[in-house]
Amino acid sequence: MVNETNVNLVIMVIVLVLIGFIFISISYFVLHHRFEQSQVTVSTSPRGGVGWVEAVVVVDNTPSLSNSNLLTAWGLSIYIRIPDMEILFDTGPSPNVLRYNAERLGVNLSRIDVVVLSHEHGDHVGGLQALNANSVAVYGAPGTPANRVVNNTLEISPGIYILKPLYGPPWETSLLINVNGYGGILFVGCSHPGIVNIVQNAVKIARVKTVIGGLHLAGASEEECISIVEKLKALGVEKIGAIHCSGDTIRNILAKENMLLNIHVGSRIMVSKEGGAFIIN
Ligand SMILES: [Zn+2]
Ligand SMILES: [Zn+2]
Repeated sequence: MVNETNVNLVIMVIVLVLIGFIFISISYFVLHHRFEQSQVTVSTSPRGGVGWVEAVVVVDNTPSLSNSNLLTAWGLSIYIRIPDMEILFDTGPSPNVLRYNAERLGVNLSRIDVVVLSHEHGDHVGGLQALNANSVAVYGAPGTPANRVVNNTLEISPGIYILKPLYGPPWETSLLINVNGYGGILFVGCSHPGIVNIVQNAVKIARVKTVIGGLHLAGASEEECISIVEKLKALGVEKIGAIHCSGDTIRNILAKENMLLNIHVGSRIMVSKEGGAFIIN
């Protein structure tokens, strides 16, 4: 009898220990999993921002009326300076065009820290060889000659986001910079996935107040462009530097709405809390 009770007790203890172990393991897994999920959520909300952003349109097919020294090849490349980093967003169609215009605009390509390639088309990636791609971090959408392919939203420095690529085709990423006390400035390449989709994707991270780049609306009707402008306004966008493949229809509508940043190749734009987004020259 005594032996049997002891055996029963031992079995009960073993069973209890096992149940306890399983319970603790499940709790740990659930808590750990939740912790991981909350980390993901935190990384997609703006933790920080920069004091100011200066942007120079180095390559664009929109001609400058005041600076005829620049080449106006079909394509896009924007030099972006923030307090501790120099970024090149897209590279235009060829190394020669990029080098030529950069030199005339006082942009030193050897100082670029980060290149972002929006999408694989030649008018955006063709100038990459003007940079030493071995020593520069080149982020890009799938299909681009990047050394760091972007599949998900990436915060490369506080307030600087390379956004999850959307499918146009092709896959296209955009660059979002959160300016302290102002909001987001969004750089777009060709907007193949649709500018409204891109902005909807970006506002999950920070309010987008200014958009600069190609809107891919050169063939769009006036009605379509009006509807797009309304949607962008509803999303909080205030100013748009519509260049490259945007087309005159949307530029005219934006001008009437007092939303157009009337920029072109060679334009220099400043964005800060104090001054908002304005064109220097
Ligand atoms: Zn394109
Ligand atoms: Zn393009």
